[in-house]
Amino acid sequence: MFEKILIANRGEIALRIQRACREMGIKTVVVHSEADCDAKYVRLADESVCIGPASSRDSYLNMPAIISAAEVTDAEAIHPGYGFLSENADFAERVEKSGFVFIGPRSETIRQMGDKICAKKMMIEAGVPVVPGSDGVLPEDSQEILNIARKIGYPVIIKASAGGGGRGMRVVYTEAALLNAVAMTRSEAETAFNNRDVYIEKFLENPRHIEIQILSDKMRNTVWLGERDCSMQRRHQKVIEEAPSPNIPRKLIERIGDRCIDACKRMNYRGAGTFEFLFENGEFYFIEMNTRIQVEHTVTELITGIDLVQEQIRIAAGEKLRFRQRDVSIKGHAIECRINAEDPFNFTPSPGQITNWHVAGGPGVRVDSHVFSGYFVSPYYDSMIAKLITYGDTREQSLSRMRVALSEMVVEGISTNISLHRELLQDARFIEGGTSIHYLEQKISQRI
Ligand code: ADP
Repeated sequence: MFEKILIANRGEIALRIQRACREMGIKTVVVHSEADCDAKYVRLADESVCIGPASSRDSYLNMPAIISAAEVTDAEAIHPGYGFLSENADFAERVEKSGFVFIGPRSETIRQMGDKICAKKMMIEAGVPVVPGSDGVLPEDSQEILNIARKIGYPVIIKASAGGGGRGMRVVYTEAALLNAVAMTRSEAETAFNNRDVYIEKFLENPRHIEIQILSDKMRNTVWLGERDCSMQRRHQKVIEEAPSPNIPRKLIERIGDRCIDACKRMNYRGAGTFEFLFENGEFYFIEMNTRIQVEHTVTELITGIDLVQEQIRIAAGEKLRFRQRDVSIKGHAIECRINAEDPFNFTPSPGQITNWHVAGGPGVRVDSHVFSGYFVSPYYDSMIAKLITYGDTREQSLSRMRVALSEMVVEGISTNISLHRELLQDARFIEGGTSIHYLEQKISQRI
């Protein structure tokens, strides 16, 4: 096992990884920007290295600075968390070539899955169902593009092959709007991702977002750890996640879980990963694979009792998975609400100093957060300040615990979306379970 791990991230996930390391007796090095000097996880780490100014480009995305920090502190492995460089194949490759272990899949796998066209192709080969769409990258010829979309049927969604984080996507409802939308998505993709390849998919009008968590070791032992329902989204960003997903027959989920295992074995996948699907009319359609730990990994941890971050570390250290599929049992129900520093009505970020911070507690309540009373929420980074997670024997119990937990949360000095969560937890459709990915936006638009 490693003696020392460098954490190349910030915020709650930096603290989460640090906790996993400390439990395992591994020392931690935290890299941070000048804006995060006083962060809790920096103070708690065994060592810390300031790697640059506040702007992410100069700090958390600064590959040479991170590798140098690993060199000077004698860290053996680098955990990238989520966001930032976690799905950057070049970074993973540099880490490997510099003699460190990247806690995640091989750089080659990250590259393949980061190219959504390539990922889709590999899934088709592995027998994983995908959203019907263009066969690979869209051609340049306008007539050919029109023909492809006509064959798929409107509405369609144009997606950048290198897109991510909800960016690089455009929905098109009519043929008249298609070519212009393709041109715009291409040019945006070129600017944002340095890759103008786009493809077309059928735009599913009422799907749910269901994802499968997997773990795979270097010996190709692979397990899937149930699914998560992440349909409560705004602008393609998840707001509430839960596991298991309500109202989907277990048989269907099990079938898709098995397909994911086959796909992992075929690509010799290593580490933790998530297969993301849209689910409509009883069918699953693969949309992409995330080759990292996800924000919402917590709900899976609560229903399986497996610490995903610790498993990532063990796998990276070359250890064999300690359990098989038959040892994995799903018990109870977990829900996660992402608490963001933002205006609950217009969703603009709300940076500033938290003057009073009181978190919920009690049975079945978990709060993953790096903030405290007096903490300054920086305008430079993501606005998520906490993940409030509840667990219960049943979905009903986990929902009521969440209601109580939300009522206890006090955050003063900045605005947060806690009131939105309180409202959603009283929403009849959400309580019933199984809302589509468009539900939250529809609800918000009716509210204003
Ligand atoms: P990203 O990599 O940016 O997260 P994804 O491909 O995972 O992009 O899609 C993000 C979200 O966009 C999905 O959760 C879903 O809400 C929506 N989406 C993506 N593809 C489709 C589709 N074919 N039809 C309807 N919605 C889609």
